[in-house]
Amino acid sequence: MKILVIAPHPDDEVLGCFGTVSKLIKKGYEAYTLILSQGKTSRGEGDEEIAILKEEIQKANGVIGIKKIFLENFPDNSFDSVPLLTIIKKISKVIEEIKPEIIFTHYANDLNIDHRLTYQALITATRPMQGCFVKEIYSFEILSSTEWNYPLSFSPNTYFDIGETIDLKIKAMQKATETRSNKAKKKIDKAIKTLQAQNKVITHYSIMKESSVAFQTVKKYIDESLLKSLNETDNLTPFFKGLLS
Ligand SMILES: [Zn+2]
Repeated sequence: MKILVIAPHPDDEVLGCFGTVSKLIKKGYEAYTLILSQGKTSRGEGDEEIAILKEEIQKANGVIGIKKIFLENFPDNSFDSVPLLTIIKKISKVIEEIKPEIIFTHYANDLNIDHRLTYQALITATRPMQGCFVKEIYSFEILSSTEWNYPLSFSPNTYFDIGETIDLKIKAMQKATETRSNKAKKKIDKAIKTLQAQNKVITHYSIMKESSVAFQTVKKYIDESLLKSLNETDNLTPFFKGLLS
């Protein structure tokens, strides 16, 4: 199975889902990252800064074993100055090349315009046409964007325990932010911790393992093999057997 992580800015991919993706890689999945802009405005625009940034992206993605990184150059925090179709085409091209079954990306209603347009472009690129191989799409939350838009609407309904891989996520983030100020590093470190269920004050997080992170399932197609296994009672879990008896 192949996974594609799509983010507009460097670091979003790490913060959003690298605990989860690294656990899936350990289980045999292949994962790829597409970053749509170089996040220039936050670090200056010189060639040297860009070179450092690219190195940080490579190192951070290397920590969890991402197979390949696709890096585009859309204008940071101004995706609305680019025709949406141009972004859709870039995303479609990578999807065609990788043929991922699972995609992780931003939430539709984040405050950040690049996050919202990345989501919009992805949904268009994966519209349910015949032959579409993308089976599952999940939105992750990014602090200082997802919860900054009002009214709040991120509705987590999918939880993934990253107790085993949280250390790798933190290590990847350290690589991604090697040249940042200590203040920025502290802020990001706090953001990683805040995303864990154990630090959420919202009631429904309390039913999850404390080391879980939350996603919103955007869409999911049930595979035929899963349907078949549900019909063969020998394969059923006690839960489903109970439902049928
Ligand atoms: Zn971002």
